[in-house]
Amino acid sequence: MSTLSHLDGDTIVAIATAPGRGGVGIVRLSGTAARAIGESLCGAPLTPRHAHFRVFRDSSGQQLDSGIGLYFPGPNSFTGEDVVELQGHGGPVILDLLVKACCAAGARLARPGEFSERAFLNDKLDLAQAEAIADLINSTTEQAALSATRSLQGAFSREIDALVEAVTRLRVYVEAAIDFPEEEIDFLADGKVAEQVEALQTRLQQVLQAARQGSLLQEGMKLVIAGRPNAGKSSLLNALAGQDTAIVTPIEGTTRDVLREHIQIDGMPLHIVDTAGLRESADLVEQEGIRRAWEEMASADRILLVVDGSSPDADIASAALWPEKNQRLGADLPVTVVHNKADLSGRPPAVIQQGGDTIIELSALTGAGMDLLREHLKQCMGYSDAGGDSFSARRRHLAALAEAAACLEAGREQLQLAGAGELLAEDLRRCHNALGSITGVISSDELLGEIFSSFCIGK
Ligand code: GDP
Repeated sequence: MSTLSHLDGDTIVAIATAPGRGGVGIVRLSGTAARAIGESLCGAPLTPRHAHFRVFRDSSGQQLDSGIGLYFPGPNSFTGEDVVELQGHGGPVILDLLVKACCAAGARLARPGEFSERAFLNDKLDLAQAEAIADLINSTTEQAALSATRSLQGAFSREIDALVEAVTRLRVYVEAAIDFPEEEIDFLADGKVAEQVEALQTRLQQVLQAARQGSLLQEGMKLVIAGRPNAGKSSLLNALAGQDTAIVTPIEGTTRDVLREHIQIDGMPLHIVDTAGLRESADLVEQEGIRRAWEEMASADRILLVVDGSSPDADIASAALWPEKNQRLGADLPVTVVHNKADLSGRPPAVIQQGGDTIIELSALTGAGMDLLREHLKQCMGYSDAGGDSFSARRRHLAALAEAAACLEAGREQLQLAGAGELLAEDLRRCHNALGSITGVISSDELLGEIFSSFCIGK
């Protein structure tokens, strides 16, 4: 077992403020000796939850800094243990000296995420909330930060807890039906169980949808721009990014490698990848570029297929790329077709729905129709500016929710096809486990280690 998920008796210390210089820098201690260590540096007792202005000294009496000492007795602290904060001046050297003095007095350096991990192990936060702290700190947009705050306050966890409660009720019902088959009413056959499974499926899908939006806000959507050479892919990347990231030339095969850009559309993070033009090529470098283009497309959330709309065979050009895309990447990967160069084709900017596909007429050069594309991208990711009551979520959560949904579906089929209560019970147990892994009620040491080690030190 890893030691990560077990509380040791150590008192930990780390700089809690961001690296660099600032007006104030905070050193934080947590553990049974936090108070004693804090008081030894402050040279006087610390009253709980009072701000004390003190000179901080090391064990030899050397004056290191002066500032505020704060003591939060457990369990009413962030970690649930005794916590002391020393708020000194925000310079890296002076803060290091304070940390060294704390270590000399009996503390040890905290591992990344260890404060949050202790808060989790002491039931101050569940796992999804602890992850929301890291997401809040790493947020790159206002919306992402606000949704992480909602997750931290428990919005996502409450949804999961409600699902877990419903699964538990159902499990009790099904297990009872199996254990007491002599009861007059056949619980499994009376249709109520099937009804409840279906209701749970609907609820789970709703949470999954909301979590997708949350994960999108945190992690962004990957959009790969693909198409024939000279269709205007690089121009489109530049128009979306609002800067000249890609080299635009009338010479075919200019973009030979992939180019990446991170942008926001009204707060929605977007990872755009521009790829080499897709065509038959004898040039080895270009061939490699084309291979990478397909590789990027395989991991995309959506492909923007750019076509030169001013060429007479625009429709044919886009149609010709479909079978290859479907064959290589499957038909499920969504594609938006962009008919570029609307200024030359003379067609007005527009969004056209054609047999389930979306075609957007625009000009990357003049910018006409770019707002339609931005709006379309927001729509297809189910993104709303208002943000509303969205909460942050991670891909790990989506995978767990999808697994829970798959278990429920398997259970429903067992019940429907064979009336098999035992198999349904087993599927419900697996569904329960999958949901439990989100909030950490059921979690392995490796998972905890993986999650907390990705945090920054001092958190
Ligand atoms: P890529 O090879 O697909 O990346 O295409 P580029 O972005 O390099 O563009 C190829 C050529 O088409 C360049 O000369 C661009 O200036 C031109 N171009 C791109 N978009 C438009 C557009 O919307 N209108 C016009 N008139 N020319 C464009």
